[in-house]
Formats: sequence, C-alpha cells, structure tokens
Amino acid sequence: MPELPEVEVVRRGVADHAVGRTVTSVEVLHPRAVRRQPGGAAELAARLAGRTLVAARRRGKFLWVDLDDGTALLAHLGMSGQLLVQPGDRPDEKHLRVRLRFGDDRSELRFVDQRTFGGLTAVDTADSDGERVPVPVVHIGRDPLDPSFDLEAAVGAYRRRRTELKRALLDQTVVSGIGNIYADEALWRARLHSLRPTARLTRPDVRKVLLAASEVMTEALAQGGTSFDALYVDVHGESGYFERSLAVYGREDEPCPRCGTAIRRSAFMNRSSFWCPTCQRVPRRA
Ligand SMILES: [Zn+2]
Repeated sequence: MPELPEVEVVRRGVADHAVGRTVTSVEVLHPRAVRRQPGGAAELAARLAGRTLVAARRRGKFLWVDLDDGTALLAHLGMSGQLLVQPGDRPDEKHLRVRLRFGDDRSELRFVDQRTFGGLTAVDTADSDGERVPVPVVHIGRDPLDPSFDLEAAVGAYRRRRTELKRALLDQTVVSGIGNIYADEALWRARLHSLRPTARLTRPDVRKVLLAASEVMTEALAQGGTSFDALYVDVHGESGYFERSLAVYGREDEPCPRCGTAIRRSAFMNRSSFWCPTCQRVPRRA
C-alpha cells in the first residue's frame, strides 16, 4: 500500500495540474473502479459533470479533490492505483480505468489501476476536527505532517490504549498516514520494539516515535516517496527513490546502519516487521 509520502506526491501533482479545471466528461472503462459508488458509473459521471476541482487534499493515506458544490472526489489508490495527468492524445494505459476530461483540451486526469483494488468515488463531505472532509474520512485522525496535528494529544491517546506500539502506529484513527514501512523505520529510529505495550511507554518514548515517523516521512517525501514495484508514481508516472534510504524495512540479514547487527524479520499481521535486535530490545512478556 502506498503510505503518506507516496500519496502526498500524487496530491501535489493533482494540485498543480488538475485543480482549477472543470470536468466536461467522465469515462469509466472498468466497473470495478467505481464499485464504491452506489449508482456506479452513471452516478459518478452525473456528480462530476460541470464541477470545478477546487483543491487537492489529503489526510493520512486518504486523497481527495474538493469540488465547487461542497462535495468531493475521493481517490482510493488501493495496492496499485495511479492518478496520471496525460495529454489527451497519449495512448491509453493498459490498465486505464477512469478518464476525466476537462473543457480546456490541455490534458486529462486518468485513473490507472493494475490490480483494481482502488477506485474513484464522488462523495458528500462532513465536519471532522474542524474541517470538511469526505464522509469516509471523518473517523481518520490527522497525520503527523498536518499543521493542525496535536502531538501531545496523540501521545496521551496512545498511552491510554491497551495494545502494542506498532499496532497503535498502524491504527489510522488516532494518527493517520503511518503504514508498515514507515512504522518500522520510525520504531528503529526511536529504538523501540514493535511489541512494546503502549500503556507502559513513557511520554518521551511515544513522543520520540511519533517525531521519528514525522521525520522519516518528511525525508521520504523529499525523495518522491518509496517505490517497491514501480507502481507508486507521481502524476507523470515517475517513481520516488527513498527505498535506498530505508534503514531496516526490507533489509533482513543486512547490517543495522547504527550498530552492525543483522536486521531481523518477524511475522506481523500477515506482513513483516523488520527490526534490529540490539537497538530495539524485545519487551519482557507480562
Ligand atoms: Zn542496531
């Protein structure tokens, strides 16, 4: 799944190349891409026709475009979804699912998705923490790069939880945007093991891991995000290159960049956790 930096890269591209333009037509080439829209392709087209894209926004890994009637177009990137801004005469991508044309003939917005887990949905908005967001995003917490993110409130919320630290980091309702890759990187930077019980962490420890998450995601963003299979791309189809800067994620048996100990991999929720057994001590079982 793309995480916050990869989604932010796409958001910036949409903001630069699609915002301010008015939708003249919507073409759905695969019904799965609009399966979250109750009325399917016809409803999506009807809701978007004539609407101007007002702003490209993001909370955590959720990306949407505000429309000029107070509704929003929500993009679910899923595992492999891409939003591309392409000249109208560029041949269709093999996995093109939805096309938005604008009246100005400059370029079109294309939703391309190889595995079709993603899609586009036109949705209503509602209030969440003082701002209008798409209804499916109302329960999502602010992410660490949001100027309104409240670090101390998040620290308190984590310490009231009865869970393990990495599970808390991946829970998008308190703090959003952190997925498996950046959780492992943040835990390594903070020298905390993923299984540490949140209720027994000190405030400085929780603060440290959240600041580390913010720091690593900011660095990744500066490098265009992390790309593992060339599917996470910006609106021009270019991949980021933060993968080479990862300290532990995907680096089983390689030396820890800090102490040289071989990085370990453990099973975690159908995925993996990568960590340094020297820098990140395993908690004693209660
Ligand atoms: Zn180490």
